[in-house]
Amino acid sequence: MRLRGDEVAAVLADYRMPQMNGVQFLERAMDMYPYARRVLLTAYADTDAAIQAINVVDLDHYLLKPWDPPEEKFYPVIDGQLEAWQRTDRVPPAELRVVGDRWSAPSYKVREFLARNHVPYRWMLAEEPEAAQLVAAAGGEQCRLPLVVTADGRSLQEPDQATLAAAVGLSTTPATDFYDLIVIGGGPAGLGAAVYGASEGLETVLVEAHASGGQAGQSSRIENYLGFPDGVSGAQLADRARRQALKFGAELLTARKAVSLEPRGQARVVRFTDGGEIAAHAVILATGVSYRRLDAPGLEDFVGRGVFYGAALTEAPSCSGSEVYVVGAANSAGQAAVYLAGFASTVHLLVRGDGLEKSMSHYLIEQIAALPNIQVHLATQVTGASGDGHLERLTISEAGRERTVDAQWLFVFIGAEPFTSWLDDTVERDAKGFVLTGPDLVAGGRRPRNWPLRREPYFLETNVPGVFAAGDVRAESIKRVASAVGEGAMAVALVHRYLEKH
Ligand SMILES: Cc1cc2nc3c(=O)[nH]c(=O)nc-3n(C[C@H](O)[C@H](O)[C@H](O)COP(=O)(O)OP(=O)(O)OC[C@H]3O[C@@H](n4cnc5c(N)ncnc54)[C@H](O)[C@@H]3O)c2cc1C
Repeated sequence: MRLRGDEVAAVLADYRMPQMNGVQFLERAMDMYPYARRVLLTAYADTDAAIQAINVVDLDHYLLKPWDPPEEKFYPVIDGQLEAWQRTDRVPPAELRVVGDRWSAPSYKVREFLARNHVPYRWMLAEEPEAAQLVAAAGGEQCRLPLVVTADGRSLQEPDQATLAAAVGLSTTPATDFYDLIVIGGGPAGLGAAVYGASEGLETVLVEAHASGGQAGQSSRIENYLGFPDGVSGAQLADRARRQALKFGAELLTARKAVSLEPRGQARVVRFTDGGEIAAHAVILATGVSYRRLDAPGLEDFVGRGVFYGAALTEAPSCSGSEVYVVGAANSAGQAAVYLAGFASTVHLLVRGDGLEKSMSHYLIEQIAALPNIQVHLATQVTGASGDGHLERLTISEAGRERTVDAQWLFVFIGAEPFTSWLDDTVERDAKGFVLTGPDLVAGGRRPRNWPLRREPYFLETNVPGVFAAGDVRAESIKRVASAVGEGAMAVALVHRYLEKH
């Protein structure tokens, strides 16, 4: 229905269903239809589950079985839900159409960008009749794919992210040129900082290069974040955080990448790819980390055409019934394997080392062991890839023996690194590129580079006064959602301290 662009007013799910329970079903439906009313059908014995669901999926109503007579107990409830839905100030239904090729990296990038920014769209293969008409109207053979056709009929051919973001109504232009606080990066740390900054009265702008949510937004299920006993999907957590930040008045810019940071007197100036600039009294760096690339001959040619970095969520439905390969041994690979197992016929988890225990949480190892369609291959590496236009074969070395397998899907999760070289010599970093802050800058009696003040840097402050770092990008940080959010909040408290003393 989502792909057809249909609207959904209400979703009714029975709590007890095969394969997944009603709360899990509603949670998935909520990712696709955030405005649909959610109703859980329960027996008296499941009342506790229904009450919990009120928190997990913002349940609108739970209907106790049996509901006889329906005129009294069922129809009025549904009428009420439909009326409430009609009153909701909801975004118009998906009318954005994306025409592209199945195995095309640019098409994949556009779909991933829209999905991660929660923009509904209808995906059409170029050969479909309706798609062919759109292509013909946009210049026929001259038309470059992917073609994006907006609700008001504008056509964008092979758009870059900034153009696409602006066309679908995501904010890309700052409202002013001077703020109290600029937060760079829209992952949990940045969103946390934006929520606390804006709620505490700082004029705050958050700048995100791609889609808010960061790595967490790519997680199928975060099980260990406080307050979500049944876990929460990364997309949902990111969406709630984004709405919370907006509610408090933070400005969120999407598809804007910071490419330089410069102290200019008391101002801290951030420049974007297109040369535009904004300035503020203080800056929080929350740019996290990105996936490390897997180095094997041929692999790079198929990125977005069968080889994916951290894209299990967007691509999973397309893998239905296929064999899927996942590389990695940490939690992100484990989560992806479990998620993909719900779609693929078999998931092969390729692990370089001799076990998962050292690198993966116990609960995930148990989940993997319980899923019959996940096969774990230890002492295994991908050594090559080939195909015609898209990935078709992988060469795998397993316990020293090489073999070639037919494979159309490879998902890689082999650790991550910070991309902080854009900070040049301004901000001090460790040998791996992680930003040094507070005590790490003065360890062993050393002085932070170019530090102009008599006091030492505050706990999350870098060697540039008023520039702080939070979350995964910070050296020695704990790579978790909770710690990133916590550091975002803490950095804002330190920004206040900095502003009071300057
Ligand atoms: C698949 C997966 C599953 C995970 N599961 C869990 C889990 O279950 N529990 C848990 O606690 N942790 C989990 N983690 C780890 C957790 O997601 C990270 O620790 C957390 O997201 C770090 O938050 P962050 O804000 O510091 O950085 P990130 O989440 O990395 O966000 C950084 C953001 O900054 C943006 N950015 C980067 N450079 C720039 C720039 N120059 N200009 C503008 N924007 C920029 C990026 O686009 C990104 O959106 C998981 C990670 C992954 C990948």
